[in-house]
Amino acid sequence: MTFVGGPYLEQFEQSFATYHNSRFCIGVGNGTDALEIALWALNLPEGSEVIVPANSFIATSEAVGRNRLKVVFADIQSDYTIDPQSVKARISSKTSAIIPVHLYGHPCDMDAIMELAASYGLRVVEDCAQAHGAMYDGQKVGTFGDAGTFSFYPGKNLGAFGDGGAIITNNASLVERCRMMANHGRFGPRDHLLEGRNSRLDGLQAAILNVKLSYLDGWIEQRQRIASIYNSHLDPKRYALPVVSDRVRHVWHLYVIRHPQRDKLMHYLRDKGVACGIHYPIALPKLAAYAEHRSSCTRFVACQQDVSLLSLPIGEHLEGDAMAYMLEALQHFEA
Ligand SMILES: *Cc1c(COP(=O)(O)O)cnc(C)c1O
Repeated sequence: MTFVGGPYLEQFEQSFATYHNSRFCIGVGNGTDALEIALWALNLPEGSEVIVPANSFIATSEAVGRNRLKVVFADIQSDYTIDPQSVKARISSKTSAIIPVHLYGHPCDMDAIMELAASYGLRVVEDCAQAHGAMYDGQKVGTFGDAGTFSFYPGKNLGAFGDGGAIITNNASLVERCRMMANHGRFGPRDHLLEGRNSRLDGLQAAILNVKLSYLDGWIEQRQRIASIYNSHLDPKRYALPVVSDRVRHVWHLYVIRHPQRDKLMHYLRDKGVACGIHYPIALPKLAAYAEHRSSCTRFVACQQDVSLLSLPIGEHLEGDAMAYMLEALQHFEA
């Protein structure tokens, strides 16, 4: 079969593993499934706690609850990724894992996170949905923890023509458990060990991703070039610009600034035809779904900053003219 499974999928799984210098890769239906399946495969104690950043897409924390584990939020630092100090403060005797999210394409402080994981005996699943090709100390994200999970949703830096996702790991038994869960709990040619689910990366999407993967590093350079234009032309006294650690290769999935009159700025830009967005409008602990967490997170930076975040357009497609137009608009904005 070439449509589901088959040679294109095998080829992509191999190339994506090789790109990361990782032993295994398994394609799945989307990035949410990738997180949920990887977390399940770790076989964490039922009801144990998993620490996730307060600023992310809900898929990150959903994976925890869907596995009948307890979500615990940690605050973020100035580069918008999870703050290792806050993680440490949130560790309890019930903590079993951490999900660092390489948000906006900026790698988390993996040294500090892996050190915490080692000293407290915690597992780590890296959410790399926004960070294909990003590096920390010259090493690709997704290869520090027990597993790395990816999304190939069309809007991501490496996007398919529909939904798609993948898990990478160096752990042979972990990848086996992921494959079993993603394929209805299948065990051997005829039997099923447990009730699993169906989560597949289509052959068609894999074929497209195979071609696009060879362009990824070039696209990352384009994004870096655009980010540096923003960095050098935007007035840091007017806009809070992204903070970038010198240990990372940032892949700029999003270029996020902060402004005290964010909504006014957003409407001003949209009126001029500039497509900007908010990631994310409400910090996770403030979502209705997490009402019981709100009080424990009121002092989080993440829970105060959400109202001032604005994502400016960035992508390999952006031309010089469009950039100049946008920069001029940003220069003339009157708060
Ligand atoms: C997009 C995204 C996901 C989910 O990926 P899907 O393919 O849309 O399911 C998970 N985590 C983060 C941080 C994301 O940006």
